[in-house]
Amino acid sequence: MSEKPRKFKGGVHPNDSKALSAHKAIQEAPLYGTYKVIMHQNIGAPPELLVKKGDAVKKGSLLCKASGFVSVPLHAPTSGTVKMIDKVPGPTGISVPCIVIEADGEDEWGCPFEPIADWQKTDPAELKQRVWDAGIVGMGGAGFPAHVKLSPPEDKPVDKLILNGAECEPYLTADHRLMLEQAEEVVLGAAILARILGLETAVIGVEDNKPDAIQALEKVAGKYNIEVVSLPVNYPQGAEKQLIYAITGREVPVGKLPSDVGCVVQNVASAVAVAEAVVKGIPSIERITTVTGKPLNDPGNWKLRIGTPIDEVLKLTGGIKEQPAKLLLGGPMMGIAQSSLDVTVMKNTSGVLLIAKDEVSLYTSEPCIRCGRCVDCCPMQILPATISQAVENNRFDWAERLNVMACIECGSCSYSCPSHRPLNQQFKRAKVEIRAGLRK
Ligand code: SF4
Ligand code: SF4
Repeated sequence: MSEKPRKFKGGVHPNDSKALSAHKAIQEAPLYGTYKVIMHQNIGAPPELLVKKGDAVKKGSLLCKASGFVSVPLHAPTSGTVKMIDKVPGPTGISVPCIVIEADGEDEWGCPFEPIADWQKTDPAELKQRVWDAGIVGMGGAGFPAHVKLSPPEDKPVDKLILNGAECEPYLTADHRLMLEQAEEVVLGAAILARILGLETAVIGVEDNKPDAIQALEKVAGKYNIEVVSLPVNYPQGAEKQLIYAITGREVPVGKLPSDVGCVVQNVASAVAVAEAVVKGIPSIERITTVTGKPLNDPGNWKLRIGTPIDEVLKLTGGIKEQPAKLLLGGPMMGIAQSSLDVTVMKNTSGVLLIAKDEVSLYTSEPCIRCGRCVDCCPMQILPATISQAVENNRFDWAERLNVMACIECGSCSYSCPSHRPLNQQFKRAKVEIRAGLRK
């Protein structure tokens, strides 16, 4: 490692509960009879539907094409027939369109592209096009199209590619297992991404609570001149701006992007998806997901196809041994609580988490006691208590002046608040109100 990583200001240390699944090797889920593929899985424009009821599809064939630059295509997770275009609950609970595929059990390939034999001699523009054609998005949770991040403006040259292997969310261990079991693919993906950006090297940042993954990556990193950086455990270490600061010392100003400080950040799972798309010709149709929580008999990490129904996913764990209080997609800090088991696996479903009744806070929200803990832990150095006051008074203009838009919704303030105030939820609401106001 060339430089000691810096500690970003703020952050919290929740119980990580990763021991439930960190030692469990990745298992491949069986082929299911039905997949419900949500159409809009990326930040940006929804893709354009190409199939209709009754159409035959093959594994990897196109279901939707990108409808603009900030949009990605969608591919079939297996071969079969389009049963219907239906609606299922999306991750935010709102009903969203999905393509229901009845599998034929053959799992026959029909991918529209071939492997790229010699990526090291291939034009970077062609490699970037492959990332786009494969429908790769930020798999750490954001769902931002990967090819867009690989297209920084010409006047903002990028000199640093960072792979995010922090996986700082409690409970989640999918990236940990991926780095441990597929270290070569992570490093290969990093090297391909670096070539696309015209860089000679890349840095993979991993929290130091995953020493086996760091060791596995270090063993193979030299092959492509990739550096592995061990980062101190501090939630939200994996947030883009905090990761950039820890590794480079560069601060991304409020309202600016990593490319404004010469950086591109990609998740390690996205890097593996890039390696598979380029070297094997496989589009983004599956991912590693942690399925965990105290109520489950056998938590673990599974390779799941996009569109797998969550009730099938839960059965993989030997079922439920105690009635859960909550089902979340993602981790406990940034995940979204679900009200239905009809949700399905998406490209950014990093975790399926069941929270036991005795783990759920039964406290009611109390008035702010001005303790300042939320201010101390906020990694974005904004004033959660004051913004909360503004939101409670429906003063979204005031919240905006207090920089609520800089909030990364990490939940550290809510976690720290002794009065159990719903700070993160208030800030999410304020951001929605402010964006809606801008649209008027
Ligand atoms: S205000 Fe936003 S960024 Fe700051 S701790 Fe709370 S949720 Fe995180
Ligand atoms: S942590 Fe809670 S009680 Fe303390 S200042 Fe912040 S909002 Fe108020």
